[in-house]
Amino acid sequence: MNSAAAAAAVGGATASFLAWAVRGRSAGVFGRSVWRGPRERRALALTFDDGPSESTPRILEILAEYGVTSTFFQCGANVDRLPAIARQVAAAGHEIGNHSYSHPYLFLRSPQGIESELRSAQETIQATTAATPEWFRAPYGARWFGVGRAQGKLGLTGVMWSAIGYDWSRRADEVVARMTAAAANGAILCLHDGRELGHNPDVRTTVETVRRLVPLLLERGYKFETIGRLICPKI
Ligand SMILES: [Zn+2]
Repeated sequence: MNSAAAAAAVGGATASFLAWAVRGRSAGVFGRSVWRGPRERRALALTFDDGPSESTPRILEILAEYGVTSTFFQCGANVDRLPAIARQVAAAGHEIGNHSYSHPYLFLRSPQGIESELRSAQETIQATTAATPEWFRAPYGARWFGVGRAQGKLGLTGVMWSAIGYDWSRRADEVVARMTAAAANGAILCLHDGRELGHNPDVRTTVETVRRLVPLLLERGYKFETIGRLICPKI
């Protein structure tokens, strides 16, 4: 290998390491992060990002019908826009996670900017719902320098997923098939009750997915747990 080829190979390795560090579900390079729970128990977690939205109550109704609790990673800006719905999620016994204030790509952001996004969301969620998030899901799953320190200051742990539904772009039957195939002990499934900061987003696919997926997985013997329960069952 000549030196140019060697340099390209090293550059390629560095780039792929960086890509994994930023987006890899098991990467903890930019802050402590989990992506699945223990494999011993027949339990999994259903998680929702980007809410609250105008349609979140429809998802709450289905979850209540089956007595299922989930974790909702809320955006501070959406909580400010729809405080009553944010409170309704907490009042129904679901866990609230932090999904940043304005849903930016944290990649290449300054550590101060990152901390400000996490802190604003944390404060808004606390002031509105009285819940203190313990879990942070990075928008687009993208972490960067400064995420770990901000998480540490705010008492947050990062959460990725073992499967993501693409419920913003695929049909409900595809999303259900994908999530069913990914169901396993300790799985963390990621759906969306909002669409970033969109007002009145069309989340019919997500609602339909939840309506079909929850009974299907209950029938298969899975227990639905919040991230907190799934990761720390003794608490
Ligand atoms: Zn998101």
